[in-house]
Amino acid sequence: MKWKRMGNRRLISLTVLLCIMAISVLGLASLRLHVAGEFEAERKVCLFFDDGWQNQYDVAFPILKSHGLKASFAIATESIGLDRGTFASRMNIEELKELQAYGMNIACHTKTHSHMINLTSSQLYEEIVTSKDALTQLGFDVNTFVYPFGEWNDTIVNYVKSAGYLCARGAKPQVYSLKNTDPDARFRICSWQITNQSLDVFKEILSNASEDEVVVLTYHFLSDEASKETYISVQNFREQMQYLKENGFKVILLPELFTVQDESSELLSYIEVAILMTAIAIIAIACYLLLHKTRKHLKRSS
Ligand SMILES: [Zn+2]
Repeated sequence: MKWKRMGNRRLISLTVLLCIMAISVLGLASLRLHVAGEFEAERKVCLFFDDGWQNQYDVAFPILKSHGLKASFAIATESIGLDRGTFASRMNIEELKELQAYGMNIACHTKTHSHMINLTSSQLYEEIVTSKDALTQLGFDVNTFVYPFGEWNDTIVNYVKSAGYLCARGAKPQVYSLKNTDPDARFRICSWQITNQSLDVFKEILSNASEDEVVVLTYHFLSDEASKETYISVQNFREQMQYLKENGFKVILLPELFTVQDESSELLSYIEVAILMTAIAIIAIACYLLLHKTRKHLKRSS
């Protein structure tokens, strides 16, 4: 009779252990699905504003804020605060800090905005590494590089990688695929240049965005006076931002694509280790109790 009870207890203990293990496995699986779902479920778009024009602060910033949209602003360090009071005015440090304080990303766009293909090593160092240090010393959290004129080669990319940037962007109209397994792909991200295209053309470009493919859009000069080749009218820009907001596009900062990925897997591995340790501890305690009781019963019956 006693042995029958013992057998039942063992069976119950084993069932409890199996249940704990099953719950752990299911918990992990659903957690992985949840993170993957959050990361992949929406059509993703990244916004960039290049060259630090004052009208990006005066015109784009309020419109972005009114829609709750975040963007990256690519700054060449030598042009900060240039030509104030003229049509070619550039943002100053205070304005850039205000952008960052709101949650915008300040990206490095070299020191002098040169064509980099034929630069010497020391010039490349100045444009890619020294410029990043200068922005960092000014209080900016810089993790993105933007190639002037969208020009890069292997040497330039290697400088960007070794300078500690998280990602880098060029100027060719191509999506960035999240399924790209090349570890260097994040340093060769392409982007559509948005000037004064019609809303229909804009929609056509956005039709390339999918769960796995990110569309990156780059703006330059926001003005109703067509004083620059790269200009977009204020009304046109307002309509584009409204279209993004009203049609369920997920507007994210480019480096977030990589920080979300890295942090998620880091968090998951911590949780996985914690669950595994807990499961092992429970199994060890259960085994000890079972053994202890068996010994007691054996002593009593002898
Ligand atoms: Zn530029």
